[in-house]
Amino acid sequence: MGKTLTEKILDDHLVEGELTPGEEIGIEIDQVLTQDTTGTMVWLQFEAMGLEEVQTEIAAQYCDHQTYQFDFKNTDDHRFLRSAAGTFGAHFSRPGNGICHNVHRENFAAPGKTMLGSDSHTPTPGGLGELAIGAGGIDVTVAMGGAPYYIEMPEVVSVRLEGELPEWATAKDVILELLRRLSVKGGVGKILEYTGPGVETLTAPERMTITNMGTELGATSSIFPTDEQTKDYLERVGRGEEYVELQPDDDAEYHDEIVVDLSDLEPLIAQPSMPDNVVPVSEAAGEDVEQVIVGSCTNGGYEDILPVAKMLEGREVSMETETIVAPGSKQASEMLARQGWVAEMMAAGVNFSEATCGACIGIGHVPASDSVSLRTFNRNFEGRSGIEDDNVYLCSPEVAAAAALKGEIVDPRELEDDGVDAPGVELPDQYDGSKTDLIAPDEAVDDELIKGPNIGDVPLKDELDSNLAGEALLKMDDNITTDHIIPATQDILMYRSNIDKLSEFTLSRVDDTFAQRAADADGGFLVAGENYGQGSSREHAAMCPMYLGIEGVLAQSFARIHRANLFNFGLVPLIIDEDTYEKIDQGDDIEIVDDVREGVESGQEEFTVRVNDDWEATATLNASRRERDMLSLGGKLPWTKQQAEGG
Ligand code: SF4
Repeated sequence: MGKTLTEKILDDHLVEGELTPGEEIGIEIDQVLTQDTTGTMVWLQFEAMGLEEVQTEIAAQYCDHQTYQFDFKNTDDHRFLRSAAGTFGAHFSRPGNGICHNVHRENFAAPGKTMLGSDSHTPTPGGLGELAIGAGGIDVTVAMGGAPYYIEMPEVVSVRLEGELPEWATAKDVILELLRRLSVKGGVGKILEYTGPGVETLTAPERMTITNMGTELGATSSIFPTDEQTKDYLERVGRGEEYVELQPDDDAEYHDEIVVDLSDLEPLIAQPSMPDNVVPVSEAAGEDVEQVIVGSCTNGGYEDILPVAKMLEGREVSMETETIVAPGSKQASEMLARQGWVAEMMAAGVNFSEATCGACIGIGHVPASDSVSLRTFNRNFEGRSGIEDDNVYLCSPEVAAAAALKGEIVDPRELEDDGVDAPGVELPDQYDGSKTDLIAPDEAVDDELIKGPNIGDVPLKDELDSNLAGEALLKMDDNITTDHIIPATQDILMYRSNIDKLSEFTLSRVDDTFAQRAADADGGFLVAGENYGQGSSREHAAMCPMYLGIEGVLAQSFARIHRANLFNFGLVPLIIDEDTYEKIDQGDDIEIVDDVREGVESGQEEFTVRVNDDWEATATLNASRRERDMLSLGGKLPWTKQQAEGG
């Protein structure tokens, strides 16, 4: 039987296990990526594990999420990260140089490589044939130390692309169409492999818009085969020699197939407040738009902003609409500036911003209360923009530019009546921005860690108890995101390296008494519905509940990265059925009747949960041998140390 492209790359990197869906496999990692909000803990854990030097081919530390230095705590974090990259041998991308995924694809992403990144949109370079996976920070730490990364072998699903995109339909509409069809849970446990004749019609940056947002489907990763388009892009970024041809075998067997005819697509839009709440733009037309933002790791490339500049050239944005353009990388800004496009956009009324995640996580450009914001980003979870009752829509740069011109949501095809032509996709001859903000390990300016007062310690958990009992401290709905668990807004983000302080904000967006109640109870459980922990890779969403004494989470299902983070920090993730979920109330007393430690160690899957000493239900622990060992020892850090000592 032939192999899928995913299987070929995994096979090349396999150090343990077999490529059978559901089986745990260990793979060698070639590249790692981390960013400022997850990176501080990555390096503190690297230090705590006694590791001395990065072992992967490439390790890159980006400063992109919080680049504004509002407070010495931000600057302390940036200085610590630069010192850690220098001390341990990673590339360092300075604040303002751009978003990790954009800078990484310009400089390092390469076909056939594996990458692990402590950011959920790490799969972006799948558009170049790199198999890239988002993970918790400590997983990245361990991989950077040279150890394999362990993951359940996902199912490989073919997304067969046919036809060619018509004018005004874009790569963003391809992924919005998949979200419309499959929902934010549709990719869970899967790697989406793009196949079919439509693939060759998409440039590599368009492919990377699609692979970037595969994360919103919950997919483990997304990947395209390589071809002339891949080669062309690598040549344009000056790395043509890194091209290798990668295709699945003709007789490769996929677990499933989804067919998308590109020629059927039209401009789409995700309505508030989930990326899968997708309709044709024409259905949302007429809504007044107070803010438009073009940028992010999804649509912040040179080739994403150029169409906007072309559409705005010689025109003016609506007086009622704030229009912001924030490129994904300084290289994109520099190139657009040298070619005069920045001036054109400024003349049209655009507020041109630095290359940063910023507004994507509510740092800057927070929408006005009770207003509509249209963004080219990948997520519109409620409150993520920095205001609780936001109305954020997600769309392509072309739809965003059309709204900026008209002051309302409008199908961009209607602009043709005003003489606005479809801008199409155009790549520069060369991506030739300067590289002054990317410091290679051999140019490092520091050789020891610099820790300001905001840099705290790595929190540790005791070994697992035999008796787990406590209150159901909080009962939550379906689709709770990591933004709900640990918000990423500026007032909170600056404590990512200070868990003692950060934990005070745990689940504050769901219940602002939770952190205090959890600290007072010193133990207890979280209860949630489906897809608990979807969204980002931030391990703080497991670390902070652990720090507050939470012992376990009872949920109907868990999002992949968050589930791994729970094991990494020694919290027991138990699956309950819908009836049990419905019956448990917040405040109920919960006791796991079995000897939990013995059960975890012996491979027991079903545990009896007694509620209020009144009724019982079954909860399931699905865990590999390695995950059970980690739970028993109190998490991945003590487990890794034990492994290193030969225990
Ligand atoms: Fe940054 Fe937003 Fe992309 Fe995350 S999703 S890397 S916050 S731009």
